[in-house]
Amino acid sequence: MSHKLKVGELREAYLLEEDIWRVFTVVLSSKSAKSSTYKYALMKSLIENLYQVNERHELSYDQLAYSFTKIYWNLIVHHQLINQNRGKIARVVTIIKEVQDANSIPPEFVFDKIDDALQLKLVSKVKATMKENVYGALYGDTRGSFYAFDHKKETLTLNPKVHQFMLNYQRLIVNLTNYHMAAMIEQLNEVPSINYLLGKVESIAKRSSLSAFERVLLTYSKADCFYCQKTLTGVKRETHVDHFIPWSFVQSDHIWNLVLSCNRCNTSKSDKLPERAFLEYIIKRNHSLIEKKEDETITNLMKNYKQKKIVMLYDYSIKNGFDTIWSP
Ligand SMILES: [Zn+2]
Repeated sequence: MSHKLKVGELREAYLLEEDIWRVFTVVLSSKSAKSSTYKYALMKSLIENLYQVNERHELSYDQLAYSFTKIYWNLIVHHQLINQNRGKIARVVTIIKEVQDANSIPPEFVFDKIDDALQLKLVSKVKATMKENVYGALYGDTRGSFYAFDHKKETLTLNPKVHQFMLNYQRLIVNLTNYHMAAMIEQLNEVPSINYLLGKVESIAKRSSLSAFERVLLTYSKADCFYCQKTLTGVKRETHVDHFIPWSFVQSDHIWNLVLSCNRCNTSKSDKLPERAFLEYIIKRNHSLIEKKEDETITNLMKNYKQKKIVMLYDYSIKNGFDTIWSP
């Protein structure tokens, strides 16, 4: 049984796009035997960390467990979608409910509202259950072709071909994964309709607030709008944290993709890509963040950032259909 494996080596390193599509389609659709929503949550966690891989295409179990926990916390606690497995209670549900009850956390609390120490504790419990129930299962379904994993080193190594594929077709993959995950949750829980769920699943990994990033950015850069240079005053609602590459594409909140902006620019930019000239500016801005080596918060937030990543992200978002270019 593949889910009992402690190490999974990469088989078939060389894959054609059509091979990858075939495996993806089988894994996501009902043809693949699955009793829980774990595979979808792992897929969403991989997508959230696509630009966080190191040079060896590795992701740490901590990175993935953080995304995975956030997804389930928001589904289980916030949206009360308790059934995530056929027949029995999924282990991740038990873990999350126990922590919620023990700390009397109200359901309005989304994951990023929980304090850091408790988040860490929860993520480490979920990480342990992912080792037992998650990595081996999807590995088996993809016949070892998508990634390798190692429970001792706690790393997952993406097949470079699959990584490339996910970057090329990110938007389609996100939509497919959300759709199939929503369809399965709908079967397992009593909900009005799949449309009701799809919106929830689409935004499940989204933070309720970027104010933590706002504080960091205000500490290290001038309080000016990144796009129009207007000075941002401290008045409430005046300063926004904007995803340089739209969230709907990048599906994650990395500080190197976040900028301060005024209300007007933030609203008019919305889901669009900024003019290419701004790419140079954000590269410079990120360079200045990396320079703050003495500050541990920044060093951690900028871990795995490379200049080429934001350039890739920009180009891939155009490839994926974000071709309306905005300027202030
Ligand atoms: Zn502005």
